Amino acid sequence: MRLSRKEFLSFSGRSILGLSLLNLFNWKVFGREKFGKKLLGEAMIEVKTKRLELTHTWTISRNSSDFKENVFVKIERDGITGIGEAAPNVRYGENPQITTRRIHEAETIFKNMDLFHYVDIKNALDKAILDQSCAKAALDIALMDWIGKAFNMPLYKLWGLNIGHSPKTSFSIGIDTPEVIKQKVLEAEQYPLLKIKVGRENDEEIIAAVRSVTNKPIRVDANEGWKTKEEALEKITWLKTEGVEFIEQPLPSDMIEETAWLREHVDMPIVADEAVKSASDIPKLATAYDGINIKLMKSGGLLEALRMIQMAKALNLKIMMGCMIESSVAITAAAHLAPYIDWADLDGNLLINNDPFSGVKVKGGSFVYNDKPGLGIEGEF
Ligand code: MG
Repeated sequence: MRLSRKEFLSFSGRSILGLSLLNLFNWKVFGREKFGKKLLGEAMIEVKTKRLELTHTWTISRNSSDFKENVFVKIERDGITGIGEAAPNVRYGENPQITTRRIHEAETIFKNMDLFHYVDIKNALDKAILDQSCAKAALDIALMDWIGKAFNMPLYKLWGLNIGHSPKTSFSIGIDTPEVIKQKVLEAEQYPLLKIKVGRENDEEIIAAVRSVTNKPIRVDANEGWKTKEEALEKITWLKTEGVEFIEQPLPSDMIEETAWLREHVDMPIVADEAVKSASDIPKLATAYDGINIKLMKSGGLLEALRMIQMAKALNLKIMMGCMIESSVAITAAAHLAPYIDWADLDGNLLINNDPFSGVKVKGGSFVYNDKPGLGIEGEF
């Protein structure tokens, strides 16, 4: 085909315009990986500790606290910012100082790798951070927030999840005197499901206080507080008559055989919490428990939580997602996976009175998601 000069100029002009538009399209739709690699700047990581104030003194079978110091991470690259959070927990040998150190030690991973290769980054983090799984969680959450923002899409949409499937969250009531328990239950009027902490010497008193003011379904968490299978059997048999849906971690995490025995003797689902941190812990628990409680701080983030969800489903275990005392950053991150789960206990941000961030909201126990890209978090870092 021969073209006149005018036709050739017109054709090549349209081709250049077309290619430019195609590149722009690719840039927008497929991210910057393919066409914009050389434009990527170095990832910058910022770390800050913030003190979260609890509305009520928080007591579980192990300990009490009035505040928590959580570690926040900001990853910035190519004009996009991702935010993550670590909630160090003494039960797992974590504290804010070591967590901060681990995050700084992992900075080079983010500086040297392509953030779109987040599976490779997860593998690198698993090798680099062997304690302080909450430090991994902070980096993983920030990374996935960054990824969602880079694709201009909420994370749940990127993962193909229907938020209409998310269960309602429970609201937790810590161990306290009967008078305070009653007050807390009345303050929690807007939440249709309660999770009651027990495992000290006053279990009967606590449940009686709850039942004196509400008939709502309750879930009970002993936090490894009962020490023999006989004691646990007696407690669960009694709790069955008190309208309890399931019992979480009745016995110490290493008492797997005793828990399997207990499961044969009670008519109530038993959920593992302290006994399970990551996917590799799940197979050995499948005969002792009916479900697992996944927490991002134990798993080391969203990507490992996804592996845990798939493994639990394969083993026919129920899935609960729980939390530590966390701000809206980590709670919102977990809520993005909630369409996968059976039971939600994502209320850490509802127990504090100075949440530095906002994200997913809770109305009548149901999550209210926003449509913002990534996690959809707002607030001053
Ligand atoms: Mg628990």
